[in-house]
Amino acid sequence: MAEPFDFSTKLIKESVSVDRETGAANVPVYLSSTFHQKDFDRYGKYDYSRSGNPTREALEKAITSLEGGVRGFAFASGMAAISTAFLLLSSGDHAVVPKNVYGGTFRILTQVLNRLGISHTFVDTTDLDAVEQAIRPNTKVIYVETPSNPTLRVTDIRAVSLIAKNHGCQTFVDNTFMTPVFQRPLELGADLVLHSATKFISGHSDVVAGLAVAGNEELADRLYFLQNALGAVLGVQDSWLLLRGLKTLDVRIRKSAQSARKIADFLLKQPEVQAVYYPTLQDHPGADLQERQAGSGGAVLSFELKDEKSARMFVNQVTLPVFAVSLGAVESILSYPPKMSHAELNEEEREKAGIHSGLLRLSVGLEDAGDLIRDFSAGLAAVRENEQANVGSGK
Ligand SMILES: *Cc1c(COP(=O)(O)O)cnc(C)c1O
Repeated sequence: MAEPFDFSTKLIKESVSVDRETGAANVPVYLSSTFHQKDFDRYGKYDYSRSGNPTREALEKAITSLEGGVRGFAFASGMAAISTAFLLLSSGDHAVVPKNVYGGTFRILTQVLNRLGISHTFVDTTDLDAVEQAIRPNTKVIYVETPSNPTLRVTDIRAVSLIAKNHGCQTFVDNTFMTPVFQRPLELGADLVLHSATKFISGHSDVVAGLAVAGNEELADRLYFLQNALGAVLGVQDSWLLLRGLKTLDVRIRKSAQSARKIADFLLKQPEVQAVYYPTLQDHPGADLQERQAGSGGAVLSFELKDEKSARMFVNQVTLPVFAVSLGAVESILSYPPKMSHAELNEEEREKAGIHSGLLRLSVGLEDAGDLIRDFSAGLAAVRENEQANVGSGK
């Protein structure tokens, strides 16, 4: 089915809507919790903003169209969207989940949903046989997050969705790292797409938000019921900010991804760097799949220095990226997964997940790639001097 417009055009068409009343080129911020009803028996489209708000609805419509789904939902955070989605399951149901799933998703599964009788099995979802073997008669959902965090391993969404269909389960995909600019899971057969919109969709490290888009009406109805029942909706002003973020999503993530590729290529050639993880690098086991399924490696990469001491040295030396959790912003963000996103794992679990003590994750922002590379060169020079001094002193 040929799309009449390029995705970049669609993005603007969906995020800009002229207000009928005033001609305003942006959706008004409808800061109203309640709506006047004309009479006893005929209620208008909106009654109470937990159930529906025109500003939030404009955002929900935009993300629905961009992901190619039937209905979208805006939540107070990525975790609110993910938790609400998991509550589509009932006591006795089971989910197959990637073993390197986002930490917050790990926490809700292992410390909340388990108490409610919703069980899970962690598997390496890049291994399709392992996915199939983990399915039980009561499995309802196969959950996918690709590329994975922080080592950027790639799961085949189309293949997993097919396995799920053959076993009567649904496929949920956390699409935070790719966004619909690069990857549209519903087109690949998934049933539900989830986002931490805090990341690339907001894009400016200023909003915490989540989005979900259902691929069929039945799921959409059930999710709408839960969104309204649980009430973790996104606020009106934040909904407006996400619409604003959406407008530049295409140019932002494409530039960041181009720079990420250049930086990954640079890091590969540096003797102090022991490994570089970026999904479209030639020696990456998922490179072909990533090209096919997303057409880009995205804007996040990770790389390994010798040890924690070298990672500290690098972080202290570089001046451009902020050192912080999170990703997907205009500013580059450098993070140290062992003590940040993956601090909840013990050392053995971290080693098993390939998160060694010298691993750093970089979310590439909109700075000039050459400037970033020069900054990282200086960082690596400091690491080198330090490592050589240690060798010299016999440490
Ligand atoms: C940040 C993140 C989440 C959680 O989203 P919040 O907005 O922080 O609640 C979920 N999945 C991925 C991949 C993330 O990066």
